[in-house]
Amino acid sequence: MDPKLYEKYSRQILFAGLGEAGQEYLLNSSAVLVGCGALGTAAANLLARSGVGRLRIIDRDFIEPSNLHRQTLFDESDARAALPKAVAAERHLRAINSAISVEGIVADLTPENAAELLTGFPLILDGTDNFATRMLVNDAAVSAGAPWIYAAAVASYGVTMTVLPGETACLACFLESPENNGFGLEETCDTAGILNAAVGVIASIQAAEAIKLLAGKTEALHHRLISFDVWSGRFQAIRVSRNPQCRACGRREFTYLEGSGQPHITLCGRDSVQIHEHSRKLDLAALGRRLAPAVLDVRNNDFLLRFSVPPYELTVFADGRTIVKGTRDPAVARSLYARYIGA
Ligand SMILES: [Zn+2]
Repeated sequence: MDPKLYEKYSRQILFAGLGEAGQEYLLNSSAVLVGCGALGTAAANLLARSGVGRLRIIDRDFIEPSNLHRQTLFDESDARAALPKAVAAERHLRAINSAISVEGIVADLTPENAAELLTGFPLILDGTDNFATRMLVNDAAVSAGAPWIYAAAVASYGVTMTVLPGETACLACFLESPENNGFGLEETCDTAGILNAAVGVIASIQAAEAIKLLAGKTEALHHRLISFDVWSGRFQAIRVSRNPQCRACGRREFTYLEGSGQPHITLCGRDSVQIHEHSRKLDLAALGRRLAPAVLDVRNNDFLLRFSVPPYELTVFADGRTIVKGTRDPAVARSLYARYIGA
C-alpha cells in the first residue's frame, strides 16, 4: 500500500480484525446509502473516514435548522442555504476524505429508478425514514442478490439487521410475518421525537457491519436483529430465521419494486407532504418569476425554489417534486400544488 495511505489509515490497520489486507479491500470497495438524514449522515461519515473507496448518497430532502441536532454532517450554513442533503453531504464528505469518490444524488428512490441508482454497488445502507422506501430497498436488494443493512431509530432506541439474500432473513421475513413483535418501529420522529445518541449507536453498528462486509470479513458479521435503547440501557440481539413463505426472499414477489410509484408521502420529523410527479421538468427561475407577485418569500438556488403561502411553505425541485410544509393532508397539498405549480 502507498505509504501515505498506510499512515492515514494506520490506526485502523493496526486493529487485528482488519489489517492491511482488509484496508486494501475497503479502498477498492463501494457502497450506496439510501437516505441521508440522521442515520445516513452518521454512517456516511464513518465509511468515508474508513476509506471506503466510492460512496453514492441518494436523498430527496433539503436541510432545515431542526435537522442539525442529529444530522451530524450538516451545519448552520447548509440550513440557511436550504441545500439538498445529497449535495451538502457530498461536499462535507469530500472535505473529510479527498482520496475517495463521493457522489450525491438528489432523488427520491422509486420503483422506476431503483435499479439504475442501486445497481453496481456490492452493498446498500438504509438511511431512510419510512416503511415503503425500506421495503423497496429490500425488494431491490433481494431480487439482485445484493447485501443491505437495515437501520431505523426513533425516540431513544433503534434497530439494525444485515440482510444477506439467500442466507439470512430479509426485512419482509419478519416485518410481514403475523408474529411481528413490534420491531418495525411504528412510532415515527413525528410522534416520539429522536435523541441523537440513539442514532449514533445504531449507525455505528450499521457502519461496522458495512466495514466487515466490504473488507471481506464476513465471518465477523453479528447475524442478529440488534436493538438498543440509550435511555434505558436495554440491549437485545435476537436471531431471526428466514420465513420459507416470505413474499420477497421465499416466493420472490417483489411487490414494492413492481409498484407504480409514490404519489405522495408524509415525511418524517415535520408537518409535510411530498408530491412526486414522475418525469416532469420545471424551469425554476421562470416559475419563481411567475409566482413572485402571488406568493411570499420567493427564494431559489440552483436546486430548488421555495415560497410561502401562509400557513404553508412549498419547496419545488427541478423534477417537479414538491414538499408542502404546514399540512399532513395530501388533499390540501395536492390543491396547493395544482394552484401554484400547475396540475
Ligand atoms: Zn424474506
